[in-house]
Amino acid sequence: MNASDPACLDAHKRPQGAAHVSLLVVGAGAAGAAAAVAAAKLGIDAQLIDEHPVPGELMALDVPLHFGQRMARSSSNARSMEHILETSAELAEAYELGIDVQLGVCAWGVFPATPACAASPLLVGLADAGRSWYVSCDRLIVASGARDLCIGFPGWEKPGVMGAQAALQLMRRYDAFTGSRMLILGGGALAVEVLEAARQKGVTVAAVVDVETPPEADESAARIRETGVPHYPGHLIEAAHGGLAVESAVIVGLDEACRPRAGSELTLGCDTIVLAIGTVPNIELLDTLDVRLDFEPSRGGWIPRCAPDGATSMPSVYAAGDCAGLGAAAAEEGRCAAHAAGTSLGRTGPRTPRAARAHTADASVPRARTWMRAQLAVSGLDVPVCQCEEVSRRELIGLRPPRYLGTCEAHSRARDLRALGADGPLNQDQVKRLTRAGMGPCQGRRCREQIQILLEAVGDAKPGTIPLARYRPPVRPLPMAVLAADEEAAALRDHWVAWFNISTQWLAHWEPKPVPLPAPGQTPLVGESE
Ligand SMILES: Cc1cc2nc3c(=O)[nH]c(=O)nc-3n(C[C@H](O)[C@H](O)[C@H](O)COP(=O)(O)OP(=O)(O)OC[C@H]3O[C@@H](n4cnc5c(N)ncnc54)[C@H](O)[C@@H]3O)c2cc1C
Repeated sequence: MNASDPACLDAHKRPQGAAHVSLLVVGAGAAGAAAAVAAAKLGIDAQLIDEHPVPGELMALDVPLHFGQRMARSSSNARSMEHILETSAELAEAYELGIDVQLGVCAWGVFPATPACAASPLLVGLADAGRSWYVSCDRLIVASGARDLCIGFPGWEKPGVMGAQAALQLMRRYDAFTGSRMLILGGGALAVEVLEAARQKGVTVAAVVDVETPPEADESAARIRETGVPHYPGHLIEAAHGGLAVESAVIVGLDEACRPRAGSELTLGCDTIVLAIGTVPNIELLDTLDVRLDFEPSRGGWIPRCAPDGATSMPSVYAAGDCAGLGAAAAEEGRCAAHAAGTSLGRTGPRTPRAARAHTADASVPRARTWMRAQLAVSGLDVPVCQCEEVSRRELIGLRPPRYLGTCEAHSRARDLRALGADGPLNQDQVKRLTRAGMGPCQGRRCREQIQILLEAVGDAKPGTIPLARYRPPVRPLPMAVLAADEEAAALRDHWVAWFNISTQWLAHWEPKPVPLPAPGQTPLVGESE
């Protein structure tokens, strides 16, 4: 490919008016804010963006977190913006240093310089509630944190069921949580964090329910006992009940093999059920960039392979904080990444912070597997796994086409996971295309990991052997009005599929298609090469 490539975004075909910054930091949590502050102190022209506060319409779609309709109507107003600033000392420092901080702005895609895209070297798609635009940058630090890991149960699609990260954001960052009686599912520090936030906000906690039975000396269990909130270790939620929303939950005791104990069912009144089973690193932007990923169960699952300074396998792109693996010192990683980016830009400070890669093991991955095993034993297969596309566990593992297509043809019924596995290694993307699971507006944020865990459980595969479904830009659902307003130049409109760099799924339409060779003795079908 060269400058005459018709698909190439040369200087004349760049998105109109893309501003340029030396460093863009995505995510203004502990890691991102520390990175932006460190970069500013090195004299680097940095921009720091964060998608919170998100518009109410997106929250209603459970984007970017599983909010479960428990947000007040005021959640995205100016008060939320103020509250977000008040609750983050790092952000306040970033403002004081004069850093260009943009809240309520999401990064929906990153496009590296490729033969088809003359970004310099990176072009980032940004959007707020009303418009979308691009910024180009020399270096990018992704500090996008973590999101909730959900394992479903009968009734988990009802309003009132939500993730722990979403509950913490609504209670602490937005001051806009509307539940009044909460049941917490999960264990460890995450469950305790939700419990403490709820008590501070005056929310009654009905109980904490945990599949595992922690040892007597366990710190989190001791903290739960201290609060006097009923604690049910060795229990599982059997179902959530209610009319339009959650009104109660039935929990059940488990034996050593995670099977339900007859007669141990208990009904608890609650309007909110918080999934505090675990979190997963937010790798979506990194994945769309084709950054090298590794499966690290003690760090939350799939994470970018990083050098000690946060450099990923993609030149000019760094990762810091929870998105680079759970359990690390986020702020220290942010500062390291900023110094590494600064050094690569020819800026060095008086003291380069030491590389921060030490971490404490995170229990999210093993805990989620235990929850799934118990759920399969207690609630079986007729439970929604993908809420957006209404796909049940049974339909997923039976590779059933979407219900709205009508009757399932015999050849589809004959297909199952075992048959697919016989063709080659199982792949979640293939399952997604056959069933639509993960294709809805929440973009798989509620089901991606649980589908992987379910496939591994049913296919008897080792953890991490089935890759997650790939992420694609835009990694946030953008209203058509936002995208439509971003009118592209005529020259840019040509060959846009190549610009999006979906090389594994597209054949360039301006190039001749390869014609498959017919098998010996076979007559090619008309249009077979299309
Ligand atoms: C229960 C619990 C207890 C903990 N206790 C401690 C402790 O005592 N001490 C300690 O050091 N750590 C502790 N941690 C860990 C600490 O909270 C996290 O490691 C830290 O907050 C992670 O910071 P981060 O910047 O990586 O992510 P976050 O703080 O989650 O920030 C990520 C930000 O990125 C934004 N973002 C994501 N994607 C996009 C996008 N596409 N566009 C724009 N913005 C985006 C999000 O809105 C978010 O604000 C604890 C964690 C838990 C769960």
